[in-house]
Amino acid sequence: MYFLSKIHSASLKALQVTILIPFLFILNNAANAKSDLPHIPPVDVKMSLKKVSSHVYYAQGVAGIATDNKGFISNSAVIITDEGIIIFDALGTPSLAKKLVSKIREISDKPIKKIFISHYHADHFFGLQGLLTKDVEIYAPAGAQKYLAREGAEVRLNERRESLKPWVNKTTKLIPASHYLSEDMVFKFGGLDISVLLFGSAHSDGDLSLFVKQDEVLITGDLLFTGRIPFVGGDDVQNWVKKIDELAKYPAKWIIPGHGAAFKEFEKGSKLTKNYLNLLYTVMTNGVDELMSFEEIYKNTDWSEFENLPAFKTGNRINAYRVFLNAEKAALESQ
Ligand SMILES: [Zn+2]
Repeated sequence: MYFLSKIHSASLKALQVTILIPFLFILNNAANAKSDLPHIPPVDVKMSLKKVSSHVYYAQGVAGIATDNKGFISNSAVIITDEGIIIFDALGTPSLAKKLVSKIREISDKPIKKIFISHYHADHFFGLQGLLTKDVEIYAPAGAQKYLAREGAEVRLNERRESLKPWVNKTTKLIPASHYLSEDMVFKFGGLDISVLLFGSAHSDGDLSLFVKQDEVLITGDLLFTGRIPFVGGDDVQNWVKKIDELAKYPAKWIIPGHGAAFKEFEKGSKLTKNYLNLLYTVMTNGVDELMSFEEIYKNTDWSEFENLPAFKTGNRINAYRVFLNAEKAALESQ
């Protein structure tokens, strides 16, 4: 009896080990998987999808700086077809992106197949985690890798974890694209011909726009701003202006900019961005030629066309300084 119970207790122990260890392992894995899940709290902002054509809608952020309106300051466009949905730009937090999806679900139950990110700046791609599904493909311009490789990308993420708390938090990650593009291309999707237009470094390290042929809609990303001063995130404003002129050639009935309201007349709608960039380039290049200091040039410039616009107070000086540094560099290199 004693012998039997000993065997019994030994086999019971073995049984416990065989059951318990895998069980603990599963528990442990579940805990790890759980900690990998992003925490995406809801965000209370006004958001609606405005229809501009048969297939294209957009959500418009308010004109302001990065942390205004709970981070909802940039636009996202949505192309809805029978084949599925394309999203252009992911907004500034995963919470805003989730809200965008809930707005899309009010009008379509089609799967989200592709995401295009116009450029890798926080207000356009930090939302990606809120849009991820198993099969979704993310496209970004070449140059986005440059942003992700820079130390500044993590610095920005940490800054937003404070300034856009709790929507950007310790579970928020910088999501890379699945495809980096450097050449224009056209693809068919849900009966539409969609052109992907690549611009190299214009507003940022790499920018792209989309043109939806059948709907005659141009979605520009931050090559164009309306209702606020542009943010200068690249080093070649002259190239940026040139690229805006290239965009003008597309026969668009509607143009959706990266910030501000969509518009119908390209020349009128692109005027603010072009005038601002031309002013920055001209005053800084001329000033540097005359060996003036940044302070002198800044003080002597007539900013009246722009000074009452949103983001002027926080953004103008830093934009101007960036263009000044590049003008100095160009002047030194040409000697
Ligand atoms: Zn932007």
